[in-house]
Amino acid sequence: MMPDRSPVVASAVASVVAPVLATEAAPGPGREIRLDPAPTAMVWLEQGRRHKTITVPTVTLAPGDVLVEIELATICGSDVHTTQGHRSAPTPLVLGHEQVGRVVAVGDGAKAVSGDALEPGQRIVWSLTFGCGACSLCVRGLPQKCVSVKKYGHEQLEAGWELSGGFASHIHLRAGTAIVPVSDSLSATVLAPVSCGTATAAAALDAATVIVPLAGSVVVVFGAGLIGLTATAMATDRGAHVIVVDPDRHRRSLATRFGAAETVDPTLPAGDSDSLSSALSRSTEAPLIAIEASGSPRAVAAAIDSVGVGGVVVLVGSVSPTEAVGLDPERTVRRLLTIRGVHNYAPRHLEEAARYIEARHAHYPFRELVGATVALGDLDEGMEAAAGGRSVRIGVSPLLSRVRP
Ligand SMILES: [Zn+2]
Ligand SMILES: [Zn+2]
Repeated sequence: MMPDRSPVVASAVASVVAPVLATEAAPGPGREIRLDPAPTAMVWLEQGRRHKTITVPTVTLAPGDVLVEIELATICGSDVHTTQGHRSAPTPLVLGHEQVGRVVAVGDGAKAVSGDALEPGQRIVWSLTFGCGACSLCVRGLPQKCVSVKKYGHEQLEAGWELSGGFASHIHLRAGTAIVPVSDSLSATVLAPVSCGTATAAAALDAATVIVPLAGSVVVVFGAGLIGLTATAMATDRGAHVIVVDPDRHRRSLATRFGAAETVDPTLPAGDSDSLSSALSRSTEAPLIAIEASGSPRAVAAAIDSVGVGGVVVLVGSVSPTEAVGLDPERTVRRLLTIRGVHNYAPRHLEEAARYIEARHAHYPFRELVGATVALGDLDEGMEAAAGGRSVRIGVSPLLSRVRP
């Protein structure tokens, strides 16, 4: 149930970290935190309705929990899919799962993935999911599939955990979340996508390199969105020859700036000199890695078709329902093919993604991936811009004033 609280307008926040008005021992195990101004969150109700703003006067931090002031969030493709009704979601909910922020208050024993204690004022990124840490899936290194997994920006609003998504002034991180401190000197625009797109790109390459090393390999990346472009940069840096496939000319030129050796328009017929088959025939080596980051069933089929003997196909873009894709079992067997699915990521991928962006953000145009930034109160306008697809990401800032009050 959505709490019955009067809507307020998200206004400009003067300081990066709001003052903690009171911290006191709550009757149960936890610390009660009150901020001035009180945190706000944008609640999504259903397709076609504007987000509703709620205020959250108190937050109770259990041991291991962290309250974070959000500096910048970015709108992921899955947020757009949800608001357009392409995937189901438990409403009402606070969307948003790509963001960077600063620690405001910590519950007892709150730690980063390094094991170091977290402190107010630290700038951090955090995982999309959190699990129990003890079930068989967590123990096997698949915490994103924990039997009791919860995902920021994906859960129905609940009393006591209203600040559960990134489209808010603050977020209440729960014990078990992977938290990585990040440098104060980096632009928020390169850090906000780390917790979804960037970390997922790291996970996709990890899934591939268990089978085939990147150095010296031909890699085909399908889809030049945030995951595809980041995977292109990461693979290029590790010595791969990367071919990027995307129907959008602007995205192909971006891919070149992210290190792609070649780009291909998949809409061209096979005989065209710029087609995928022509690009592959020019290559002295067959691709041994394909990363499918577009989610298009035709691209999935092309990815499976493109790799040579002993190769690996990583499917990472297919996160909403599509038609089935045919598989030629004989060609799969004779090529000793490996097909892997990757969904979200483990804490080590978040750490790797943060360190990668810190090291390489200036070498590739990561900053340009966020085309515009809207005020938190203008989230609906931001969603519209994101759906238009002209920019890879749209930013959402609680620190900006609304354009249309
Ligand atoms: Zn996402
Ligand atoms: Zn678990």
